[in-house]
Amino acid sequence: MQDLGSKRLIRMFSQAAMAIDAQRDHLSDLDGAIADADHGMTMSLGFRAVTSALAKLGAEASPSDVFRTAAGAFLDAVGASTGPLYASGFLNAAKHLDGLDAVDPAAMLEGIASGIAARGKGSRGEKTMLDVWLPAAEAAQQATRENPAELWTYVRQAASDGAESTRTMIAVRGRAARVGERSIGHIDPGAVSALLIVGAMADTFGDADLAI
Ligand SMILES: [Mg+2]
Repeated sequence: MQDLGSKRLIRMFSQAAMAIDAQRDHLSDLDGAIADADHGMTMSLGFRAVTSALAKLGAEASPSDVFRTAAGAFLDAVGASTGPLYASGFLNAAKHLDGLDAVDPAAMLEGIASGIAARGKGSRGEKTMLDVWLPAAEAAQQATRENPAELWTYVRQAASDGAESTRTMIAVRGRAARVGERSIGHIDPGAVSALLIVGAMADTFGDADLAI
């Protein structure tokens, strides 16, 4: 790889894939409580496809290329529901990182969050992955202004609070909306998998001195 940004980004995706695989059955159990119990399998398929596609990228790949490749691979592997959402998030992150050799965390998170929100026409408070991605993106912007050294601490906390906040929400989107008020008390599986991805980002990008 030409630059450290792409290398780290690829490592981030493989770390996210491992975290999702480790929690695959748990994610499906969470989904089973309010919907169709496939979330763990879906996310595992998607992230495995992303890591194999990224393994074939050439040395000249930029961070933007990495996200573009991830978007295509995720969409090919996961055609419905989560597939187009993450594909749009990754594609929009690619646009936000266009021309950059290093990964700007605030731009990356803003790209993912706004891409998913635009594709799903979603917002906060609807018991979805956006209850993690939107506050994570806001926290990154706030940290950029106030305390850049602690950016990933801010982001991790916001993502974790966001995932937990879905427990008391009523699902209004996707299959979970069919159970309506019975979704209260269950944490959203999409929010939990989003938190795993943010965790992989924080682990990978949070320590500037980390060996590549
Ligand atoms: Mg499902």
